[in-house]
Formats: sequence, C-alpha cells, structure tokens
Amino acid sequence: MTSFSLYIHYPFCIKRCPYCGFATAVEKEDLAIRYREVLLLELKRRAEEPPWRGGTVRTIYFGGGTPSLMPPEYVGEVIDLVGRLWKIEDKDTPPLSPPQAVGRWDIEITLEANPETRDIKAFRGFREAGVNRLSMGVQSFDPEELKLLGRAHSAGGVGEAVAIAREAGFDNLSLDLIYGVPGQTVESFRRSVEFALGLGIEHLSTYTLSIEEGTPFARSVKEKRLPYPDPDLMADQYDVLIDLTRQAGLDHYELTNYGKPGLTSRHNSAYWQRTPYLGVGCGAHSFDGTTRFWNRRDTRQHISAVHSGNDPREGEESLTQADVRQEELYLELRQSRGLEAGEVERLCKPEVVEELLASGFLVWDDSRLRVDERKWLMLDEIVLRLLK
Ligand code: SF4
Repeated sequence: MTSFSLYIHYPFCIKRCPYCGFATAVEKEDLAIRYREVLLLELKRRAEEPPWRGGTVRTIYFGGGTPSLMPPEYVGEVIDLVGRLWKIEDKDTPPLSPPQAVGRWDIEITLEANPETRDIKAFRGFREAGVNRLSMGVQSFDPEELKLLGRAHSAGGVGEAVAIAREAGFDNLSLDLIYGVPGQTVESFRRSVEFALGLGIEHLSTYTLSIEEGTPFARSVKEKRLPYPDPDLMADQYDVLIDLTRQAGLDHYELTNYGKPGLTSRHNSAYWQRTPYLGVGCGAHSFDGTTRFWNRRDTRQHISAVHSGNDPREGEESLTQADVRQEELYLELRQSRGLEAGEVERLCKPEVVEELLASGFLVWDDSRLRVDERKWLMLDEIVLRLLK
C-alpha cells in the first residue's frame, strides 16, 4: 500500500501576474464551479487506481493559482472525501464533520492564500474544514516591486491578512518572498525580509525570479525593457536572507526554505525525499516511486477530459538509472540534512568530494555530507561535478 502526499491544484486567480508561469486562469465563476466538480471526480477515480488504491495520505496541499478563492465549505468537502477514499497517516480517523473536526487529523493540510483574499469568515471556514497551515503569496513588501510584479495586494494588506489568519486560529503560517526582481536592491529585499519576520511567522519560502517563456516578463526581457535577474545581486540577497532568518531563530532546512524548529513544510519535504505524491487538477504532477506523470495544463481541456471519463494525463516519464542518481544527489543536497556517508560513496566521485571539501563548498556534519549554506545557490554546478 502506497503512503503518499496529495496535491490539489486550483488554477484560478483574481488576475494574472505578468511573471507567472504556473497553470493558472483568471477566475470565471461558471468555469470555477465546473472545475471544482471535476476535482472531486478525479479524486474518486484516482482512488480506484493502483498504486493509490488503499493507500495512506501523509499530507494534503491545496496549491495554485489562488486556492483561498475556493469556498471553505468546498475545501471541507474535499478533505472529507479524502478521508473516505484513503487512510490518513497514523490515524484511523472517521470523516471530518466541521466544526468539531478542527485538529482531529495530525497530518499537515496546507492551503495557499493570497493576501487580497483575506476574510475572517473564509479563513475561519478553512480552519474549521481541517486546514492547519496557510502559505501566503506575499512576494514583496515594497510598493514599487509589488506594482511591477502585478500583484493584487498592498504591503499593508499582508499584515492584515496575517492578523486575520491568527484570529481564525492558524498557528502555522508561511510567507513567500521573491528576490532578483528588476529594480530590487539588497536593501529593499532586506526590508521585505525584516517585515515578513517581524510578523512572527513560522515559515518563510523564498524564490529567485525566473523568467518563464511566454509570459509578459519574458517578452519585456527579450525587448530589453526589463533587465535579466542579476545573479550577483541574488547571491548578496541570499546572504542577507541567511543572516536575518538565523537571527529570527528559523532553521535553513532546505535551499530556499526556513522554518521554526519542527515546523518545516512536511508536504514539500516529501518531494525532496522522493516519496510518492499524487497531484490532481490541471497541470498537477504525480510520482508513484518510479514514474512521473502530469495532467494537461489547460483548465478547459482538463475539465473536459475528466468530465468525459478520459484520463486527464498529458504525459509521463520513467527515469533512467543515471537520471535517478542525479535526482537523488540533487534532492538530498538541497536539504540541510545532506547525504549519508554510504550514499556519498555510491553517488559521488571521491576526488571531487575532497576538492569541494577543501574549497569549503562541502562540509561533513557527523557522518553526513552537506553543501555549505553560503554556497547553496551553486547547487546545480556542485551536483554536476560530484556525480559519478
Ligand atoms: S497570484 Fe500566483 S498563481 Fe496567480 S497569477 Fe499571480 S503568481 Fe500566478
């Protein structure tokens, strides 16, 4: 029986940000209603298929898009359905029946919320539905940067959203920030990180801006109306991030993630530990332990495939032994726990390990090998050099 993490994709947003490369669409009520119906259908179908049939769910993650646009009763319906379709890790728990359900499941249930959707009734509803962690897409606290990124919220709105989330009973909050934004400086990024940490959050995720093909940002970069993100600037910003999160008592447990002790993202850790995950919804990816498959990105095509009883999968890949080794090395080294000595022997060229230890890129901690925190942004090059 497979134990797995469950990802549920909700693609709709209030507006589309010009840098966004995710499978998203601007919300239209009739389409959103149909989409929500097919998500339930897709969950039921996957629960009938190996290897998911009879499996155990370890974490649930509602990602997007903007899942906080979903009605809380619907989120409760999904969680309730998951509890009827599968076992829930380490508990033989009966289906949720809000509001008594709060806290009845130990597993992490995260929902991505954008600050502009802050609403005490909705946030309370999510909490009562069983969501126990909110991840907020903040990106920046600088008004100019927020404008350039096309975000629908203001810096002040983030503080309000956090206060509302606390009032609704969330004691596990994560914020997302972006760096490498054109016009952003080390100082403006420092202020954003300080603001975020000043809100007393449990977790911080950070991303470097990537220029995704087909987006308005990609066109602007091509036409030289926007500069390409500067890697030296990002390296300086990363150093600031490391210093400030450390001062705030957060563990830098993964390349781009920082959490209070014990409050790391269990769902994302499942990806880094190569354990199985099932993704439902348009563009969602799944991994059964050997094969990866993904759904159609287009929302309407996804709805129509599920609705007509067809498989919404668009493609799949089975990794070669060499791909698996590279992926294992990359994923282990992106975590602060690093790689066990036996795995180092299996995956790495010993002479390169010695060179990278001598030049300070790698460090032995007890019997595990890890990348030095300040060199983590060079992980891709380190892995390519190390791999046997
Ligand atoms: S809110 Fe997030 S998912 Fe939606 S368009 Fe903006 S970046 Fe993309």
